[in-house]
Amino acid sequence: MKNTTDANLLDLQTSVPLLGLSESELSARAVAWGQPSYRGKQLHQWIYQKGARSLTEITVFSKALREELTDICIGRSRVVHRATATDKTIKYLLELNDGQIIETVGIPTEKRLTVCVSSQVGCAMGCDFCATGKGGFVRHLSPSEILDQILTVREDFGRRVSHVVFMGMGEPLANLDSVVRATHSIGRDLEIGARNITISTVGLPGKIRQLARYKLQSTLAVSLHAPNQKLRSQLIPTAESYSLDALLEECRDYVRQTGRRLSFEYALLAGTNDRPEHATQLAQLTRGFQCHVNLIPYNPIREAPYRRPDRDRINQFVRLLQQRHVAVSVRYSRGLDADAACGQLRRRKRASLNPEIENCSTNISL
Ligand code: SAH
Ligand code: SF4
Repeated sequence: MKNTTDANLLDLQTSVPLLGLSESELSARAVAWGQPSYRGKQLHQWIYQKGARSLTEITVFSKALREELTDICIGRSRVVHRATATDKTIKYLLELNDGQIIETVGIPTEKRLTVCVSSQVGCAMGCDFCATGKGGFVRHLSPSEILDQILTVREDFGRRVSHVVFMGMGEPLANLDSVVRATHSIGRDLEIGARNITISTVGLPGKIRQLARYKLQSTLAVSLHAPNQKLRSQLIPTAESYSLDALLEECRDYVRQTGRRLSFEYALLAGTNDRPEHATQLAQLTRGFQCHVNLIPYNPIREAPYRRPDRDRINQFVRLLQQRHVAVSVRYSRGLDADAACGQLRRRKRASLNPEIENCSTNISL
């Protein structure tokens, strides 16, 4: 098999699910099954446009062929729970093929349908205010498991997904290969523009630089949460060995390499990082960046001692930033009555089954 890259070889193995493969990769897979290459186009259409969950649904294949291919896995999950909030946000618990459970959220507005996807089961970063972080890391998600979340939300809402944000469970840059592969497929196969995809990261040494090399046109959101090293290390254990200076240097490099503006995320924790001096330090820190600051009023979780600041305090923080010419928005989380705040739905649902499974989720807000 000349000129076949390792990645292609991997993709030809039947154990790798079809979701996430391009049309030409699907054609190669079909040829490996002894089928004509035009089957790739058919597979592409049925998997991505029609949202087939199994090859047995592909009626343009003969019955004999469908029977022959029954063991081939597309990579679809099973919805095991679904909670709708009053603002129409829907939160899903999806069961993966190995029984692991992840959270995905669909956030509709009149013009948009945003899917908040998980990139890992759990998260190793251990941020002190995050339910996912409190639950620890279980495993990475594959590209197919990321793509499946988008198809699942599209199918349930019965409308086109316009935006994807990697703000569910997990740290996307700790699973960079799968996230980049999934991002390529989201654009190429689901036709969601790169600019409508946001990758949110707390930062890992060298990883923003590595991501920059792919020159994706997606938006990078950097979870800052503190305007100085000392406070950041208290909130984010991994920040201890990754200085704020080094993180910001990688952010500068990212902007240089991609020409894209950055977002900085800042979860507002009453009495911890919401003081006037924090706002002035934050303005100082972000000076010189083409960036937007998103303030996320903290979503209380049972395992952490923090509180959400009141409106006056939030407004004061905003004013101080605006006076210093920082572009800033307050992002109130959607779907709070569906436990959309950081992973609480999964935690509650699993608690009765297995009390050790804590978990994570979503602080997506529009
Ligand atoms: N791991 C990535 C992406 C998932 S978390 C990251 O940390 O960026 C998505 C966003 O939700 C991050 O900005 C995260 O800090 C924030 N977040 C997590 N728990 C929160 C909580 N309880 N209240 C408010 N924001 C929270
Ligand atoms: Fe992981 Fe992000 Fe939660 Fe931190 S905030 S523990 S990086 S999911």
